[in-house]
Formats: sequence, structure tokens, C-alpha cells
Amino acid sequence: MNRQFRLAHRPVGAAKETDWDLVTELVPSPGDGEFVVQIQQLSLDPAMRGWMNAGRSYVPPVEVGAVMRAYATGTVVVSRHPDFPVGELVTGEFGVQEYALSDGRGVRRIDRQLPVSASAYLGVLGLTGLTAYFGLLDVGQFQPGQTVVVTGAAGAVGSTVGQLAKLQGGRVVGIAGGAEKCHYLVHELGFDAAIDYKSENIRQALRTHAPYGADVFFDNVGGDILNDGLLRLAQRARVVLCGAVSQYNSTTGAQGPDNYLALLIARARMEGFVVTDYEDRYDEAIEALARWITDGALIAAEDIIRDSILAFPKTLARLFAGENTGKLILELEGAA
Ligand code: NAP
Repeated sequence: MNRQFRLAHRPVGAAKETDWDLVTELVPSPGDGEFVVQIQQLSLDPAMRGWMNAGRSYVPPVEVGAVMRAYATGTVVVSRHPDFPVGELVTGEFGVQEYALSDGRGVRRIDRQLPVSASAYLGVLGLTGLTAYFGLLDVGQFQPGQTVVVTGAAGAVGSTVGQLAKLQGGRVVGIAGGAEKCHYLVHELGFDAAIDYKSENIRQALRTHAPYGADVFFDNVGGDILNDGLLRLAQRARVVLCGAVSQYNSTTGAQGPDNYLALLIARARMEGFVVTDYEDRYDEAIEALARWITDGALIAAEDIIRDSILAFPKTLARLFAGENTGKLILELEGAA
């Protein structure tokens, strides 16, 4: 049998367990050119909250009644597809369920030769790593010697952005919630400084740790933290709008930055992006990211929760409570 979470209601505020229906169906049978994947690991992403909303966005909303969208890894267990034999380890947009039917579109094979576990394909070798890579290097136009301030710094994208900037000769200041996360950023990931937004005054701390301002302000969080960061930009800075996790559960719309005129004073620009815009350059980024991982220069920061699929709603909530460090993954117990 295949247990799956289907969207029951569009949430108001934070998503609740009752916003999904837990449905049990027969495992699907593949037709010609199709295969079935047994899902092993589900990627938990702040964007999931946005996908549950109606209205225009960068991807269509999950329809009420549909299986909740999710990226995942798994093993092909039944196949009528010549390129995806039984036993192949794969990753793709398989949904929050135990088994997924696929025709292979958008599915990548997991390279077992690389010295990483399959979960890296949801993190540093997946959309997380690609977002960090293109956000920092392309949108942020980062150059060696420059200062990068990154918010949500101990999260999946943030921890990768900081490491990539360090690898390429940057000075990196992370902003994260809590002393433990800040200690991790400096002592495990090699950031130059970390600011605990829960106990420190961000404006003052940025004056200390980024005295000449941020050349790249990489923002995952939005709200007050973005607003404070705008007051510490270097001339011609780039503010990279990657996400705004502090705003996704708002019932009154996203809070805009009052300090936006700081962009004018610094002759800075603020630019949003969606990682999928870079699809035709994924191979270039994956090659670079895989090389850094193989060399031991890049740490795949992961937070893996091992539980059944029933734990999906409460695991997703961890992202909004700041309970994860690195890429949050739900590994399904009992999956081969
Ligand atoms: P993540 O950072 O691993 O997880 C979320 C983290 O956000 C939490 O651990 C928490 O850390 C922080 N947070 C949650 N609520 C907060 C609040 N109210 N104020 C401040 N911080 C808060 O998630 P991720 O997957 O790496 O995603 C990071 C951002 O990138 C998200 O905004 C996501 O939507 C965006 N994203 C964008 C793209 C794109 O193509 N543009 C692609 C992927 C992800 P603390 O403990 O530090 O609070």
C-alpha cells in the first residue's frame, strides 16, 4: 500500500496537520515507459508553505486533493522504462508519499561513485546547492575578497552560501538564531563571524563584523533582518532575494523593508531569482559542487529525521521553528 499526504485545505497562517489528508492507496502499476519509485528520503523546504497557497507564483499551486509536492530520493522497484531499471537510485519531484509513479521526466540518477550519501542530492548537490551557487555567483556577482552577509545562515541554503564564499576568498558573516548555530557556523563551517539575531542587536553587530558593509547581502529570511541589513551595504552592493522564510506564514502579507532607500544611497541593487531559471547550467554547478565535496572543501550540512511518513507535518514545522541545522530531510523508516 502507498500512504500519501494530499492537500485538504489551503492553510491560513502556519500549515497544520489537518491541512492534509492522509490517504492510503494501492501502489500504482507502471505502464509502458513508466516505473515506480519507493521513496526513501523527502526534502523539507520552506517553499512547501507557498506551494499550498492559491494564486500566481513561480510554480502552479498544489491543487486541493493532489499529493503534496516534494522532492525526494528513492529506488526504482518496478520498471517498464528502458533507462530506469529496477535497483536504480534516483531523485525527482515524487511528492509526499511512499511510492511514486514516474515517466522519467525531471528524474536524475544518483551517482554512486561520489563519496556522498543519496541525501546530498536533496541538499548540497540538489536544489539547495544550486540555489546557493547561482544566487551567490550569478545574481550576487560575488568576487574574491568581498564581504558576504547571509541570513538563515545555519539553514540548508545559507550554510552552503557561506561555505562557497569562503572557498572563493570571501569574508563571511552569518546571521542565525541561537548561540549553538552561531558557534557551528564559525567553528565547523569556517565563517568569519556569526550574529545571533535572537540575542544580539543586528545593526550594531553588523557594524562590528562588516565594518565596510556587505558587498553581497544574501537574504533567505526577509522581514526585520533584511530591513536591518539594508543599512550596512557597501557601495554597489547586491542584495540577493532568495527567500523570506519569516514571512511565509503571515496572514497579512509580506512586510516590506522600510529602509529601501539605503539601496539608493549605496547605489545597490536588489534582485530576486528562482533556481530553476538556471536549469540549462545545472551540470556546470553540480560538477563544481561535487569536486568541492570530493576534496573535502565543502561540508554537506544535513539534519536527517528518521521516522515514518506520518511525521511529515511535524517535520515540516521544524523549519519555521528554527529547529533544523542544515538541510532538513525526512528519511522514511523501513524504506529499502
Ligand atoms: P532552511 O534555511 O534550512 O530552514 C529554515 C530556517 O529559517 C530555520 O532553520 C530558521 O533558522 C530560519 N527561520 C525560520 N523562521 C524564521 C523567522 N521568523 N525569522 C528568521 N529566521 C527564521 O531552509 P532552506 O531550504 O535553506 O531555505 C532558505 C530560504 O531559501 C527560504 O526562504 C527558501 O524559500 C529559499 N529558497 C529559495 C530558492 C530560490 O530558487 N529562490 C530555492 C530554495 C530555497 P534560525 O534558527 O536561524 O531562525
